[in-house]
Amino acid sequence: KRRDRIRNFSIIAHIDHGKSTLADRILEKTSALTQREMQDQMLDAMDLERERGITIKLNAVQLTYTAKDGEEYIFHLIDTPGHVDFAYEVSRSLAACEGALLIVDAAQGIEAQTLANVYLALDNDLEIIPIINKIDLPGAEPDRVRQEVEDVIGLPGEDCIPASAKDGVGIDEIIESIVEKIPAPQGDPEAPLKAMIFDSLYDPYRGVIVYVRIMEGTVKPKQKIRMMANGKEFEVAELGVFTPKPTPKDELTVGDVGFMIANIKQVGDSQVGDTITHAAKPTPEPLPGYRKLNPMVFCGLYPVDTNDYNGLREALEKLELNDSSLQFEAETSQALGFGFRCGFLGLLHMEIIQERIEREFNIDLITTAPSVIYGVTLTDGTELEIDNPSEMPDAQTVDHIREPYVKAEVMVPNEYVGPVMELCQKKRGDYVDMKYLDENRVNIVYNIPLSEIVYDFFDTLKSSTKGYASFDYELIGYKESNLVKMDILLNGEKIDALSIIVHRDSAYDRGKHIAEKLKNLIPRQQFEVPVQASIGQKVVARSTIKAMRKNVLAKCYGGDVSRKRKLLEKQKEGKKRMKSVGNVEVPQEAFMSVLSMD
Ligand code: GDP
Ligand code: MG
Repeated sequence: KRRDRIRNFSIIAHIDHGKSTLADRILEKTSALTQREMQDQMLDAMDLERERGITIKLNAVQLTYTAKDGEEYIFHLIDTPGHVDFAYEVSRSLAACEGALLIVDAAQGIEAQTLANVYLALDNDLEIIPIINKIDLPGAEPDRVRQEVEDVIGLPGEDCIPASAKDGVGIDEIIESIVEKIPAPQGDPEAPLKAMIFDSLYDPYRGVIVYVRIMEGTVKPKQKIRMMANGKEFEVAELGVFTPKPTPKDELTVGDVGFMIANIKQVGDSQVGDTITHAAKPTPEPLPGYRKLNPMVFCGLYPVDTNDYNGLREALEKLELNDSSLQFEAETSQALGFGFRCGFLGLLHMEIIQERIEREFNIDLITTAPSVIYGVTLTDGTELEIDNPSEMPDAQTVDHIREPYVKAEVMVPNEYVGPVMELCQKKRGDYVDMKYLDENRVNIVYNIPLSEIVYDFFDTLKSSTKGYASFDYELIGYKESNLVKMDILLNGEKIDALSIIVHRDSAYDRGKHIAEKLKNLIPRQQFEVPVQASIGQKVVARSTIKAMRKNVLAKCYGGDVSRKRKLLEKQKEGKKRMKSVGNVEVPQEAFMSVLSMD
């Protein structure tokens, strides 16, 4: 049977351990193409993109390989995103597989994302093939890493395949083990259709292109399909696989991994993890594991130039076409005017979107400090969800506030255990566990409020461990905390965009820090500007921005002209990012400054 010769797998690794390099080596050996030809094919594919209007995203390639047993096997190599923000997408891509190649760097050993990925693979019952890569490095310690794989992950050390993706060592053994160890897909081609969506993207010509793995049944062009999450129905226009060229097929059946085009207009209608079934003969049960992705981090995005407001909305609408986890709604800030409250999966997701708006759409943004979603219970019993600190109700009406917690795992060499624990404590972390990975490295587990991770955690972790720590986290739920809203006043006026939620114990320190910081960030004005941090009516910290003494240009009079022009340009550049708040000119950095501790 053809299905017995299908192998569906992913490559999982901590960043830089060699995933892309190994994928290239496997492609060379299996597509009967050299890398050169592969690139040419990709160029052809791009021509094709122009002719037929189909976007290529290489996250599921079909490869063929003739094994030592003389049989020809069909591989589907499924790519996974590489960041903690996208853990759900990773888990769905893995759910499309029966196995995973786990790469561990022979010099670095197991890192935080190695473990995070292993957990996701185990959740999906995947056969894991451990590979110790970069054995060519002078610092490689394959035996130590082998032991780590055995002790920490629980896979037999002797199963590890030593390899150098760079030098092409171990590649044949890896590919043979894909054939031998990873099970062929199971399922009934006659059963009602169950196709799992593991990715989708918006193509301007063809609409949404859905990446699917067929778990049960068979699907053909012209058939009516149904998205089980929202019940919407579409007609299949085209099916196919990427070789890497998009190659149309007249059916996709059990075990197949490929693409589907069905005149779907927005990615929101083809959500990752959802099950596609036939409209005429639907399956009673969707596949397990689907969940709607909810943003965890929110911030306000405001155009620096108010004329860019409509442009900003169009930019967000365009980005949303391809990103169903991006959320936004119009909001007005007294300080910043018209803008949008946007929700993201995490900080990286937020940064990506901000950068794309600025680069691709050429709109300068003022970004407010990111916030998590707080659960608020009022004294009258009302429950609220607050993602914008300025909307936190008055303290007198609040009974209690809950905040999201994450389980954070940090892996570090021994000598940094002290600084890491100190940091986690400072971030209000609850100690959970500490384990030695080997005699030199430790895995430290804390439950920490997500808001503390958003607030400066990465940077402090990096600097206090000289970059040796790796870090990963997952949301574990909500917990009550003693939180208060802190307002910032400039010239006596409350600036809503600068409000934050803080723990009562650190409110005083934070207030003092922010007042000092704003004093240094906000340029002197024509008049003296008091800066105050307050909780309710009580001012907890203050500073003063002194009045400007004389015109900056005055000292250039009579001086050389080019210097003067430079100064003017510099001022203009600075202006671009200024927002007039009340009658105080406030630079972009000020809105983020409430976050960082440096
Ligand atoms: P990814 O982030 O997991 O996709 O890692 P890459 O494949 O991009 O590799 C990260 C870096 O490690 C690159 O500079 C590669 O050239 C290098 N690299 C990958 N495999 C090997 C190997 O086997 N030996 C050595 N010395 N370097 C490697
Ligand atoms: Mg890579």
